[in-house]
Amino acid sequence: MHNDEHYMRLALDVAKAGVGQTSPNPAVGAVVVNGGTVVGLGAHLKAGEPHAEVYAIRMAGEKARGATVYVTLEPCSHYGKTPPCADLLIQAGVRRVVVATTDPNPLVAGKGIAKLRQAGIDVDVGVLKDEADELNRMFFHYIAAKTPFVTLKFACSLDGKIATATGESKWITSSAAREDVHRLRAQHDAILVGVNTVLTDNPKLTVRFGEKRKNPLRIILDTKLRTPLDAHVVADKEAETWIITGGVSREQAAAYERLGVRVFSMPTAQIDVRDVLRLLGEQGVMSLFVEGGSRVHDSFLRAGAVNEVIAYIAPKLIGGRGAPTSVGGLGFARLAEAVELDIRRIETIGPDIKIVAAPKRK
Ligand code: NDP
Ligand code: ZN
Repeated sequence: MHNDEHYMRLALDVAKAGVGQTSPNPAVGAVVVNGGTVVGLGAHLKAGEPHAEVYAIRMAGEKARGATVYVTLEPCSHYGKTPPCADLLIQAGVRRVVVATTDPNPLVAGKGIAKLRQAGIDVDVGVLKDEADELNRMFFHYIAAKTPFVTLKFACSLDGKIATATGESKWITSSAAREDVHRLRAQHDAILVGVNTVLTDNPKLTVRFGEKRKNPLRIILDTKLRTPLDAHVVADKEAETWIITGGVSREQAAAYERLGVRVFSMPTAQIDVRDVLRLLGEQGVMSLFVEGGSRVHDSFLRAGAVNEVIAYIAPKLIGGRGAPTSVGGLGFARLAEAVELDIRRIETIGPDIKIVAAPKRK
């Protein structure tokens, strides 16, 4: 059992390389061990490309026969873009398969494990299950809710300000904290901001630190199309951009569409966060990184739409009654209504503090 955890941890580490890159698939890692030696490793890195098990079995070659395979998610049993991995493991003649967690996808859900067992392979399930569930929490949420997993992120001063009273917000936190934000961007399918953030900060919303990865989709909530045509998110072509409006004329939308931006009209004049999430779910967006501003954060929190909160807090005091805080808008009138969080992790990044928290389940 001790060895099982050791090899599963290796499989989880390998899987991490794919987080945020595999949508609509989960990130998966696989390790093949024969006679106490690692003979194969693999990760699923992109939808449409081979699954983790395929790479790992290929690398193992003949040594897969009689081996134990550690895989972070139940092997698939259906024909998708690639043939079923359960069949591959059976053909390769492995003796034992250790699975961290089952696949909630109704196309798989237990069938992969059943298939392996029918073929006479020993299957153990649940080794490092919590870690594996955490790794694919966005995928699991999306499969169950059919709407994206929402991470709300802000960078603020110790007194909770996300900008000064004059609107200056670059930069409140250190470059080390900002690098971490870029790493998190790469782990999400899409980034969302409100139009005021575009107007005040003109952000690029791309991944510019760390290893080269795909840029997430950029989404702007902008009821009346106030986003300037020369804003980075419209003009730079670095990533796809969608603008969600409260209903605008064809001519208004056309100016943006000519620049490659997709313009969506929502059914109500006031954009409802729930409608936005439903739309994004239908469009296959599995994870959403909400990066401000304060009104947008308020809307997401009041809609009960937040799955995780990430705060970067700089040891700085900005003050000022007119300086925005991380959550603006109407807020909650009564303490009993406030969103209570469970803190999952506290880290220091350079001079700053990073807190990862999740709303308590009611
Ligand atoms: P937001 O960026 O939150 O944009 C709010 C605007 O978005 C609204 O006024 C509205 O404009 C539009 N919108 C459309 N639908 C919705 C909806 N359902 N909920 C909320 N807004 C919606 O603006 P803020 O002024 O609150 O925040 C901007 C400030 O935040 C800036 O000073 C910026 O520098 C700072 N900031 C700081 C960050 C940090 O982490 N430090 C990160 C991001 C921003 P309309 O009615 O025209 O559609
Ligand atoms: Zn597979």
